[in-house]
Amino acid sequence: MKFPPWTSVSEAADLLKAGEVVAIPTETVYGLAGNAYNPEALAKIFAAKERPTFDPLIVHIADIAELENVARDIPDAAYRLAEAFWPGPMTMILPKKDCIPDLCTSALPSVAVRFPSHPVAQAIIKESGLPLAAPSANLFKHVSPTTAEHVAAQLADRIAGIVDGGPCSVGVESSIISLVGAPTVLRPGAITPEMFASVVGPVAIKESSSKPGQAMEAPGQCDTHYKPSVPLYFGTVPTNYKLPEHTVRIAFGQQAGPIPATVSLSETGDMTEATANLYAFMHDLDTPDYDLILVDPIPNTGVGMALNDRLKRASIKALP
Ligand code: AMP
Ligand code: MG
Repeated sequence: MKFPPWTSVSEAADLLKAGEVVAIPTETVYGLAGNAYNPEALAKIFAAKERPTFDPLIVHIADIAELENVARDIPDAAYRLAEAFWPGPMTMILPKKDCIPDLCTSALPSVAVRFPSHPVAQAIIKESGLPLAAPSANLFKHVSPTTAEHVAAQLADRIAGIVDGGPCSVGVESSIISLVGAPTVLRPGAITPEMFASVVGPVAIKESSSKPGQAMEAPGQCDTHYKPSVPLYFGTVPTNYKLPEHTVRIAFGQQAGPIPATVSLSETGDMTEATANLYAFMHDLDTPDYDLILVDPIPNTGVGMALNDRLKRASIKALP
């Protein structure tokens, strides 16, 4: 691997204006950013990640007023949500403007938009003067990066720059709410359905629609992310089950487990701390030294819903 292309904010802005792709920090996970108006830059994002073009990208802005540059027919509910949760870990799906290329939205008539709170992300968006399409800065189907080192390990040879903004404070991808039709949560995250409901009234929650081994019904429903190479099991291990010799355990709170905790998401059972730690632990423990990663059960409330969602996707269905 070559030396990672560490980049300053102003160099990153120049590279983005020149149609290059650059990894940038956000409060959720690191993003691989490119000019959302430029199909060639978008193509570079898909190529670097080996991401299929049926999986659409989120467009990042740095001011609520910029929403009108990328979306149209914006309902009042979108502005109320923006006032409540932006800048922050919320993505809204809205009808797209023609200036957003089909490649960005996988030919959907809608666009995903987010205004991140990370000051470095905001500085890069502002200095480039562009809306930035940015999926997570990892190879397709790999764990999302929550540090610049995670990005470098996967993408250093493939991208023009990496801006180091420290570890991500949220640590899990944004909550996605569609406002095309009745408000519907498409992906759980740090903004919970209850928080959405407090602003726009009742929200629907879309259940995962993927059927293993089958094509998805529509773009934007890709459901096979987040699988570490070492089998990860999320669930309760039956007593008497013989674990492989090199098993490690990611604990949560003070639960008893079949083996001592290797690392703890949060010793006090704090869900926010646990979320910020999860992907880093998945990166660290995903080495050939281990045969199995166990993860303790986590309450399915608040941001715990996002943790359960990601861990269920990462988990093998049955113990080996
Ligand atoms: P990420 O890989 O974290 O950047 O997540 C991007 C995800 O946002 C996609 O995989 C889709 O699930 C979702 N998404 C983006 N654009 C749309 C859209 N127009 N409609 C529905 N979902 C979308
Ligand atoms: Mg991703």
